[in-house]
Amino acid sequence: MSLTTARRATLAALADSLLPRGGALEPGASDVNVAGQLDSYLDRCAPGTRRTVNFMLTAFNLSSIASRHLRPFRMLGAPAREAYLVACETSKIRQRRETLIALKALILMFFCSDDRIKPLIGYDAQPFKKVERDPGIIELKVEQPESGFYEAVDVVIVGSGAGGSVAAKELAEAGLKVIVLEEGEHFDRRDFTGSPPERLRRFYRGNGLTFTIGVPTISLPIGRGVGGSTLINSGTCFRTPDFVLDSWGMNADELGPQFAAIEAALNIGPVGADIMGANGEVMDKGRRELGYSGGPIRRNARGCHGSGVCAFGCPLDAKLGMHVTYLPLAAKAGARIITGCRVDCIMVESGRAVGVRGSTLDPETGAMQRDGRFEVSAPHVVLAAGAIYTPVLLQRQRLANSSRQVGRNLRIHPGCGVLGVFDHDLHAWKGVMQSYYVDEKLRDGILVEATYPPPGVGYSAGGVGGKGSDLKDFLARYPQTAAAGLIISDTGTGRVRATPGGGLLITYDMHADDVRKTLEGIRLTSEIYLAAGAQEVHTLLPGMPAVRKREELSWITDGKWGAADLKLSAYHPMGTCRMGSDSRSSVVDEHGRVHDVPGLLIMDASVLPGSTYVNPQITIMALAARSAQHLASELS
Ligand SMILES: Cc1cc2nc3c(=O)[nH]c(=O)nc-3n(C[C@H](O)[C@H](O)[C@H](O)COP(=O)(O)OP(=O)(O)OC[C@H]3O[C@@H](n4cnc5c(N)ncnc54)[C@H](O)[C@@H]3O)c2cc1C
Ligand code: SF4
Repeated sequence: MSLTTARRATLAALADSLLPRGGALEPGASDVNVAGQLDSYLDRCAPGTRRTVNFMLTAFNLSSIASRHLRPFRMLGAPAREAYLVACETSKIRQRRETLIALKALILMFFCSDDRIKPLIGYDAQPFKKVERDPGIIELKVEQPESGFYEAVDVVIVGSGAGGSVAAKELAEAGLKVIVLEEGEHFDRRDFTGSPPERLRRFYRGNGLTFTIGVPTISLPIGRGVGGSTLINSGTCFRTPDFVLDSWGMNADELGPQFAAIEAALNIGPVGADIMGANGEVMDKGRRELGYSGGPIRRNARGCHGSGVCAFGCPLDAKLGMHVTYLPLAAKAGARIITGCRVDCIMVESGRAVGVRGSTLDPETGAMQRDGRFEVSAPHVVLAAGAIYTPVLLQRQRLANSSRQVGRNLRIHPGCGVLGVFDHDLHAWKGVMQSYYVDEKLRDGILVEATYPPPGVGYSAGGVGGKGSDLKDFLARYPQTAAAGLIISDTGTGRVRATPGGGLLITYDMHADDVRKTLEGIRLTSEIYLAAGAQEVHTLLPGMPAVRKREELSWITDGKWGAADLKLSAYHPMGTCRMGSDSRSSVVDEHGRVHDVPGLLIMDASVLPGSTYVNPQITIMALAARSAQHLASELS
């Protein structure tokens, strides 16, 4: 077991105080052994995840000593524990609130994912329409080395996500000898089973527990596997708005054909009425009532049956992530995709990139294999490890940083959940997970998307106020609850830094403008839900009562809430090696070539010059395609 007796006792005490037996749902946390489940789960997690949870439990337990209760949480009697939880939720000490939210999110995820609880909250995870898997999908063959190796190719690509896969296809189809090295494993539809915690553990970096450090702490999950974050993303595909491309000095006409080719390859189209589900329908109703702009989201899917678990891997391969589209096409054109290979350094000779070195990893443990050093030499090295890991690779070698911009300008599109509770059943988890958008305030940096993860799952779940019977009442109303998330176009205050010992630090403080946009976004979403007939709207702001009438909307933006009050998660890291024509202020040029290091290119989310204002995946793909085609033309 991963937890000491004391920490496990703290966890059990907290879980029981939050979810005691009785109330609107009879079983309590102890009836389904939440503490035991989480403890044995941690045994299967990475050491870093165990350290994080251990730290949170210790911090939470001791935090009550510095309150009027004067004793560790687990030593308190039941009434004192309840009183402390109430105080914690609105505490002025941010760390107290945030630790409680994170632990509550974990507890709720295990509770709500339990087979004994799911039927009680009406959660039926079965697809509501059965369709066969698309026979047109080409199976992807990957190589999984058992020890070190040496290879020589024309282009080596580090990372197989949105950027790396598109680059691999373009370069291989141009006749170049290409190897893609991916640290994670290869998964497909057969692997996408099991409970949400198990899927988080397997398909997410750091088992899904990755955060930024700053005010507030923000959950920043990232995918890890063949296909990168496209394996577990929601499938939303917006072209970069023209006003954004203009601000980047890019030409919408030039990128148009790139977008068109990507949209054809990924079968991108709007969510149909048959799989929209009630979560999208209520947003549509509210939007129409108010006359706001928006519509069904465009997605990369074929044969989708609306099971609503896209962020945990599509069990049908209906979501057309890179592992079932661009990577098989790249492989068909001769590219080799090698998994379990973590690139540790870029080889540089006479100032020019000439290949990469790294370690092969055990697929079970993720540990380095014995004799697992590998080397791939290539006159062209493409970094596509994503906006967090690409800058870290460069920083470890102090490479490519004459502009001092490597790792800076991190944008993440912070956002939060808003929940609308209706007077009738919606079963909002039935249907596409992210299905409908309202872009009325897009130019102000606010995009609203109807998004419903499985009940009780996600960082926002921990932000639902209350404990005991209040919390149970709320869970019992999940069938009547709709959920939306915000995408806030942020100002780039974040930074990624490599730390000694091979670690990294992501710092991010919300800019005051972004706090204002977030609150306006919460208000806009609440307004939409009220217009759709919601009885109440939960904003997840600490101490804020449910909003029931339009006149109460002003509470959200009346200046009472600041950065530290927001419960945020973000899914779109970008901008840490930005593109530009001036080598003094950017890291790569318009074709992804690193200004300082010939032979080195970057083709992932790091190169985005600013916020995309919309979900970024096809922008990343379009820029990667353009850069790869340019490289291919130079080499032919
Ligand atoms: C839960 C979630 C939902 C999302 N939903 C959407 C959505 O609906 N629409 C949208 O547009 N965007 C969405 N995104 C974001 C989108 O998926 C990413 O912006 C995009 O995939 C980033 O592409 P990338 O190539 O930069 O990195 P990634 O796709 O993350 O790929 C990077 C790859 O590099 C590998 N790697 C890292 N370091 C190394 C190393 N040292 N050696 C070898 N390999 C390495 C990683 O394992 C990973 O597989 C979502 C993201 C998440 C996490
Ligand atoms: S809703 Fe998502 S997970 Fe379910 S079939 Fe469609 S794409 Fe796949």
